[in-house]
Amino acid sequence: MADFEIPELTGKRVVPKLVTDAMSHSAPHVADPELQEPLGYPGELVDNWEQVAIDKLGELKGKYRGLQVFLDACVRCGVCTDKCHFYLGTADPKNMPVGRQELLRSVYRRYYTRAGKWFPKLVGARDMTQEVLDEWYNYFHQCTECRRCSVFCPFGIDTAEFAMAGREILNSVGKGQKYANEVIGKALTIGNNLGLSGRAIADTLESLEEDVEEESGVKVRFPIDEKGAEVLLVVPSADFFAEPHVDGLIGYGKVLHQAGISWTFSSYAAEGGNFGLFIGSYNNTRELSRRVRKAALDLGVKRIVFGECGHAWRVAYSSLNTLAGPFDFLDPRYPVPQHICEITYDLMKRGVLKFDKSQNDHMVLTFHDSCNVARASRLGDMPGGQFTIPREIIKATCNHFVEMSPDTLYDATFCCGAGGGLLTDEIMEVRVKGAMPRMQAVKQVADNHGVTHMANMCAICKSQFTKIFPYYGFGKDMIVSVHQLVSSAIILDKQG
Ligand code: SF4
Ligand code: SF4
Repeated sequence: MADFEIPELTGKRVVPKLVTDAMSHSAPHVADPELQEPLGYPGELVDNWEQVAIDKLGELKGKYRGLQVFLDACVRCGVCTDKCHFYLGTADPKNMPVGRQELLRSVYRRYYTRAGKWFPKLVGARDMTQEVLDEWYNYFHQCTECRRCSVFCPFGIDTAEFAMAGREILNSVGKGQKYANEVIGKALTIGNNLGLSGRAIADTLESLEEDVEEESGVKVRFPIDEKGAEVLLVVPSADFFAEPHVDGLIGYGKVLHQAGISWTFSSYAAEGGNFGLFIGSYNNTRELSRRVRKAALDLGVKRIVFGECGHAWRVAYSSLNTLAGPFDFLDPRYPVPQHICEITYDLMKRGVLKFDKSQNDHMVLTFHDSCNVARASRLGDMPGGQFTIPREIIKATCNHFVEMSPDTLYDATFCCGAGGGLLTDEIMEVRVKGAMPRMQAVKQVADNHGVTHMANMCAICKSQFTKIFPYYGFGKDMIVSVHQLVSSAIILDKQG
């Protein structure tokens, strides 16, 4: 099945002994010039790339004050060393958060600190060389920018910021990552990460309407480009066709139908995902965010609601207003933006939605917190809503729910292993090994509590687990969407 060793699941987390350069061979495909140039980057490695890289580092640390603080603040206490899923899964010390930071910090020291300029060897400062560049490329693409390490660091140092800065520098010298840059290019030109045409999406939605009517006896609409709708629903494009994503999308439609809220997708902004974040590109993140604003204006909607996608929600929750605002044309009674889980939760609490939990009785469920929802955003108007709201929805729609080990939940959740632009098959070894800590926790609840399924509200997690579960002996159907559970349990008004 694999040409690498798959970690054994013992049900216990063990901190591995160091294996130097264990993952030095792993690198994603490099972007071709035709993917680089439309994003504003050189097509290939520029002649004076060493100086360009050093200057870019200087620019970024000047622009992003957090990065400057993070470069200076580490005291090498070692608390973060065993907190990264990639270190736990690969044993490579460069996958320890502090080891990953050191890749960038050593160059920073050399060119931007006095000690590094005068006594480079003494302070561990490194010249910007081809070897360093290759290390950056390999190991900044073995970080899912999940921020778990920052939760444990006494200074809150966020290694994701190093990975994002490293990738922005790599792009600036002409060495971008194929998968992420291809996705951004498609979203900027076609309107979604998968390059689906408006016609293809409309056809898919039409057949969904037929399927749902056949299954439920109710005509639930899945409209696109409908002017004057109240809500613009922005979802990860995987929701249009991938499993189990599409089952979640059916759930969004049923909720909005039952509540009598008119809504529409947009073919111009048929994508919630924003890979600009992953490559640390302010410009590309902003351009993708602006498409959502333009779609909302063109369609004359009153609210913008995001579907189940972790990083889409992170960008939307944290930055949509600053990147693409103002949104003063929307209905001021609602937050900008909203999440579909917030809508469902609110309707549920007000008694607008009713559920028949027994429809999900064939499953014993657990829930995987997605990194970007857990550690980079919030849901609802109460602290920790990003943890309680999805769980309340699951408990309202299912009879059997079991939590995984507490040290793998909430803000300590383990990444799925493929966020941050790592959902590409040429680095399957990284993805499989990085998923190991989460798989250990799943094994515990499967063995001890008979858990059969894991619910989740992130498109990347869903795609990753569908692929990864079989490596560890679980079925690929074990992962389900939160709104898939809603979809199965919701009692629809037959007159609707
Ligand atoms: S951000 Fe996540 S993937 Fe990156 S070093 Fe920290 S724990 Fe590891
Ligand atoms: S926990 Fe923070 S301060 Fe300690 S080694 Fe890691 S990054 Fe440095």
